[in-house]
Amino acid sequence: MLSAALPFESYLVEIEPSRPTDGPVSSVLVIYTGGTVGMVFNKKGELTPMNFGQIQKKMPELRQLNMRVSVLSLPQLIDSSNVTATDWLTLAALIQQHYHDYTGFVVLHGTDTMAYTAAALSFLLESLGKTVVLTGAQVPVGRIRTDARRNLITALEIAVARHPRAGTVRVPEVCIFFNDQLIRGNRARKVESQKFNAFRSENYPPLAEAGIDVEFNDRHIRMLPSAPLRTHQLLADEVVLLKLFPGISERVVRAMLEVDGLRGGVLETYGAGNAPTAPWFLRCLREARDRGVQLLNVSQCEEGRVVQGTYETSAHLTELGIIGGEDITPEAAITKLMFVLGLNRPARETARLLTQDLRGEITLF
Ligand code: ASP
Repeated sequence: MLSAALPFESYLVEIEPSRPTDGPVSSVLVIYTGGTVGMVFNKKGELTPMNFGQIQKKMPELRQLNMRVSVLSLPQLIDSSNVTATDWLTLAALIQQHYHDYTGFVVLHGTDTMAYTAAALSFLLESLGKTVVLTGAQVPVGRIRTDARRNLITALEIAVARHPRAGTVRVPEVCIFFNDQLIRGNRARKVESQKFNAFRSENYPPLAEAGIDVEFNDRHIRMLPSAPLRTHQLLADEVVLLKLFPGISERVVRAMLEVDGLRGGVLETYGAGNAPTAPWFLRCLREARDRGVQLLNVSQCEEGRVVQGTYETSAHLTELGIIGGEDITPEAAITKLMFVLGLNRPARETARLLTQDLRGEITLF
């Protein structure tokens, strides 16, 4: 079980708007974690993470936004392949700590695991009433053709966006803004490593699209009755993600499901949630169930949903206590499992929570 490392404080920059205004000014806390977005060339011509103290030099236009921007860097800037569940807990704790000081939050993050971090934060931040936008870039801010500027500026605008008439928060969700699309964090997948359109919203429409204006898709934005933010501080790491392929051997399945202390697993199955019916496979699943391992069934398909029982090859999964993950992404499934197991509820309650739509991560009919 993992818990948050105590957050540290190191503000690097406070950027004030260049034009003084009469009314209250919105404010955003940017949390810089690393990734391509903040890379610049050093004297030797190598790309290294920029000290965000230089951000005003790189992006003087930030002062033209009508908002105060504070930038806080994690002490160790990381490529997002090195992100851990402890980092998710630290980010959640930082947002909680500064929740009342800012209008909204932007997390600058590497693209490789951004979808996992966004999904994890969506579960950790319960009853979120402010906007948390993750963004990054495919081309470093130190390069002329960077997409960092565009992504960051629009992310900042979205982080403070309000309904024009009601004045309420426009997107009280954890989301990803990238290449002109705002995507619910727990519906996002990284689908492209070379072009600018790195992310896709799976089985759910984008929450907004940026063109000349940012067009919000209000109908699809989650609006909950207002409640105080509740930040969770535990995640279970005794979990496994098991992707099936034709020819997978009993030895491999056993090795994965018999890990000491294992509490849960996501099974990435075929089509509408189908898996082999070979006796050895069913035996592995049954034995895992008997050891108290909770399994969640997710499809390898990018679209559609898991419907256990449509075919004979999935009917047995329900009998074995495996929960159909509906239209959830693998990223959201594994982080949901870590979150739900981290709540340490009895087995029946854990299973019930896994079937529920907790943060808009699944569509139930
Ligand atoms: N490897 C980088 C990262 O995820 C890629 C990126 O930021 O686009 O940190």
